[in-house]
Amino acid sequence: MSKERNSVMINQMDRRQFIQSILAAALMPSFARAADKKLVLYLQPMGPKLSDPAVAMVKKALDEFYNFDLKELERIPLPEHAYYPPRKRYRAGKLLDFLGRRAPEDAFRVLGMTGVDISCTKGKIYDWGILGYAQIDGPASVISIFRCKMGARSKKHTLIRFGKVAVHEVGHTLGLEHCPNRGCLMEDARGKVSTCDREYDICQRCRALLKKWGRPIPEFPDIPWPRPINKSP
Ligand SMILES: [Zn+2]
Ligand SMILES: [Zn+2]
Repeated sequence: MSKERNSVMINQMDRRQFIQSILAAALMPSFARAADKKLVLYLQPMGPKLSDPAVAMVKKALDEFYNFDLKELERIPLPEHAYYPPRKRYRAGKLLDFLGRRAPEDAFRVLGMTGVDISCTKGKIYDWGILGYAQIDGPASVISIFRCKMGARSKKHTLIRFGKVAVHEVGHTLGLEHCPNRGCLMEDARGKVSTCDREYDICQRCRALLKKWGRPIPEFPDIPWPRPINKSP
């Protein structure tokens, strides 16, 4: 009798543990999965083909600096309505609208990549050529390799600049504005591609902001370019 009661108690315990384990199995892994699931950043090549090393540099840089699941989309033509014939450039603002509209449903962010010259309005200058353009804390950004080539010492130098511009523009889409710290990847290029050449990493100030906003980035990226030599006295 007592033996039987014990066995009933054990069965009840087993049952409770069983239910608990079912609940744990049903609930915990899904929480874990939700926490582990990376947000998707789509890369959208547009217009004439970018070289494979150029695309590879962007992927490597973004993979090191951010926590995204990077997915590359099929190359598409540039939208004609964004073309500005007087300067033979594509208006970056129109490209951002275009990219945002056609991004896949699961996209957190989308980065357009192109080889043509792109532009925006800067102060009194209606059409100002730029390296990249982004919506601050918004869905889309776009980068162009066109101006990365200007005065570059080598193809590798061009690629390094392109990778830095990608990190910069995606940083804008995460909410970062331009950073006053010299050498930070979020520095304002002020129309000069050479600004990229003194940049290396995202500074501690910018990293702290991203952390505060619940968007921390990897602490120790394997940075795919050399640390610039500090020429200032
Ligand atoms: Zn910027
Ligand atoms: Zn910074």
